[in-house]
Amino acid sequence: MKSTGSWYEVLHNENRVKCRVRGNFRTKGKVFTNPVAVGDIVDFIIKKEENTGLITKVHERQNYIVRKSINLRHRAHIIASNVDLALLVITISSPKTYPIFIDRFLVSAKAYNIPVQLVFNKVDLYSKKELAQLSDLESIYNKIGYPSIRVSAKEKINIEELKLLLKDKNSVILGNSGVGKSSLVNAIDANLSLKTADISHYHGKGKHTTTFAEIFQIENGGFITDTPGIKGFGLVNLEDENLATYFNEMLELQSECRYYNCTHTHEPDCKVIASLKTGDISESRYRSYLSMLEEDVIGKYRN
Ligand code: GDP
Ligand code: ZN
Repeated sequence: MKSTGSWYEVLHNENRVKCRVRGNFRTKGKVFTNPVAVGDIVDFIIKKEENTGLITKVHERQNYIVRKSINLRHRAHIIASNVDLALLVITISSPKTYPIFIDRFLVSAKAYNIPVQLVFNKVDLYSKKELAQLSDLESIYNKIGYPSIRVSAKEKINIEELKLLLKDKNSVILGNSGVGKSSLVNAIDANLSLKTADISHYHGKGKHTTTFAEIFQIENGGFITDTPGIKGFGLVNLEDENLATYFNEMLELQSECRYYNCTHTHEPDCKVIASLKTGDISESRYRSYLSMLEEDVIGKYRN
């Protein structure tokens, strides 16, 4: 449920057991910098005399999301594992969420096999023009298989509908800072605002300073992971793969391109480019693709 680096809280029969990790859980030489992440299913033994536990095994992860380690280039930190749903909170303004941010997120989610729900927040404050932009985004993303919902944490719009989407799932909430993630979590379950005000989260002046993820139980079933300070998740080892296969609409058309390994950039008889011309593929999605492709190439030279 929670990790502070040396201690882990494990949910067991509705109780939380404070655990350490067995010493031979070495992370040296492994891809990940942390041996246990929130969302992991673990085995542990109770040390009766201390009333604490010792984690002895981490079960195979159904999926996980990672953040690249800042110091260790080729290693990654697991933010959360066994995620049923990633909520990407998007705002049209205050602050504006850029399409490249959304698309990078969707590529990561696809690579890590995590279902996504787009959540357009702050619908209470948009102008007519911004609402039109919102509709455009909805049609772009709904068409390629990503569901979306319009909400307002402030005016409590569609919060019940959002709760239904989270019911009995282990969800992670992500998005740029200021889009309303904390506000939404509080709107989903008012008890959680009390929990985030827990003394252990505060240092001195009452400022939220922890950067460790924590899972909260939602009152009507399900879990939600709060990842303070983490906007999205990064990709590890995508370089060798074909980026286009992580764009749903391109994957679908790939077999109609002349070349099986078409990059959809300069090749003749490319169905993706043809669809771009007819408007069946969105320009903003294609722009994101090109910019990610370029980074990918640059990344290769850097290595
Ligand atoms: P976080 O950084 O993503 O956790 O965002 P916060 O929950 O801290 O919200 C950032 C700011 O946006 C705060 O001032 C909130 O009051 C405001 N905010 C959050 N949700 C809404 C909303 O639905 N409508 C409006 N108008 N403001 C909101
Ligand atoms: Zn092509």
